[in-house]
Amino acid sequence: MNILICKSCFSPNTTPTCCTHCGSLFITEGADKNVIDTFAPTCLVHRYEGSDLLEPAAIVKEGKRYQYVATGLLEYARPTKVAKERVFKYDQALLDSVTLLRKERRDYVTAIDTRMAGLWTQLQPLSR
Ligand SMILES: [Zn+2]
Repeated sequence: MNILICKSCFSPNTTPTCCTHCGSLFITEGADKNVIDTFAPTCLVHRYEGSDLLEPAAIVKEGKRYQYVATGLLEYARPTKVAKERVFKYDQALLDSVTLLRKERRDYVTAIDTRMAGLWTQLQPLSR
């Protein structure tokens, strides 16, 4: 079942005719299209201090000091508040590079943990 986000109130809908929340009649195609049916990120957000997690997001609402963003279709109704200095221009190549490095680091740490656990199983008790 496709999810349609109403552009007036940002409620998710499964009915293709009108918004069950605000009653807007849906136009699902053409220049007057008033629903969001695919998540199309327009920015990158860095939500967590100390982390290097970079997430693709879409601006839902702009505040004075914060942007309200969705990182998926269902988040349009409850966007996340992110300080403006933590919202960046969308850059697919940069996002791909960061994501790849994060995966490499995760794989490396997993491999080290496995080798370390292997060494620990070789420890012999001193006295028996
Ligand atoms: Zn609506």
